[in-house]
Amino acid sequence: MSTAPFQRKGRFWRGNLHTHSTRSDGRLPPEAVADFYKGAGYDFLALTDHFWEHCGYPITDTRPLRTKQFATLIGAEIHAPLTSKGHDWHIVALGLPFDYAPPGDGETMQSMCRRAAAAGAFIGVAHPQWYGLTVEDALSIPEAHAVEIYNHGCAVESGRGDGWVVHDEALARGARLGAYAADDAHFGTPDAGDGWVMVKAEALEPELLLEALKRGDYYSSQGPQIHDIAVSGDEVVVACSPASWVVAVGAGVGTRCAHGQDLTRATLPLDCFGEDGYFRITVTDDKGRQAWSNPIWR
Ligand SMILES: [Zn+2]
Ligand SMILES: [Zn+2]
Repeated sequence: MSTAPFQRKGRFWRGNLHTHSTRSDGRLPPEAVADFYKGAGYDFLALTDHFWEHCGYPITDTRPLRTKQFATLIGAEIHAPLTSKGHDWHIVALGLPFDYAPPGDGETMQSMCRRAAAAGAFIGVAHPQWYGLTVEDALSIPEAHAVEIYNHGCAVESGRGDGWVVHDEALARGARLGAYAADDAHFGTPDAGDGWVMVKAEALEPELLLEALKRGDYYSSQGPQIHDIAVSGDEVVVACSPASWVVAVGAGVGTRCAHGQDLTRATLPLDCFGEDGYFRITVTDDKGRQAWSNPIWR
C-alpha cells in the first residue's frame, strides 16, 4: 500500500461497502436500498445481507439494479462461531460467487475467509469495536484486506462506530491492512449516508472496483475530500477540500498536524514516523466530519 490511489489513472468513485436489505434484517427491499444510494450521489453499492441460515444464506443478486451510472458489488456479511469474546463473527466479503457454500458443520471463520479469498473476495473486518473484537481475533484472519474503521450504524446505535484501535494495533504488530468506512445501514435508524469509500478506478466496473479495493486504492470519508497525498523527501503534502485540521499519525505517539481555517493544502514533516514505518492522514472539516487515508508505508 502506498500513495498509489492518488497517482493512479482514473477517478474516484463513491461507494458503500456494507448494507442490508429485507433479504436479511434490513427494513428496505434491495431496489429501495439502491434507490437511496443512487439518490444520495453514490456511484456504487455492495449489499451485504447476513449470510445466516434462517435467511436462507442470501447472496443478494444486485445485478438488475446496475445502470451505466451505478455499479454494484456482489457480497455478504458472513458469520461463524466464535470470536474470543464468544460472539458470532461478522466479516464483510465482497466479490463473492453466487455458489459460495454455506458454512459446513463446525466450520470456522478462518476457513470461511480462506474459501472467500480463494474465490477472489475482498475481506473486511466489520465493526470491531461494536462487538469487542480483539486484535488477536483480527490477526487470526490473514486473508483480511482491511478493517472497518468507521461503521455509521454502530455509531448511531451504540456510540461504537470507531474501529481504529484494532486497526492501529494490528499494524503495530506487523499487519498490513487497509481502513474503510461504511454505513452498515439497515434503515431502521438514521444509519445511512455517513460513511463511505472513494475508490480510484479507470471505469465504474465491478471487477475494477473490486481489484482497486483489494490493492487499497481508496480513501474513506464522512464528507471531506482528499484530492492528493504526495510524499517528497521527508515531507508529505496533502491537498483536500476546506479543512480545519490535517493530521499525520503512525505507530507510536508521534503525530504531525496543521490547523487553520479552510485549509486546502497542508505540508507535514514525516520525521517522527521512522524510515520503515507507516503514517496515515486524517482530514477534519469545520463540522467535525472526517476523511481518512489508508496507511502509507514509506
Ligand atoms: Zn455485523
Ligand atoms: Zn452489517
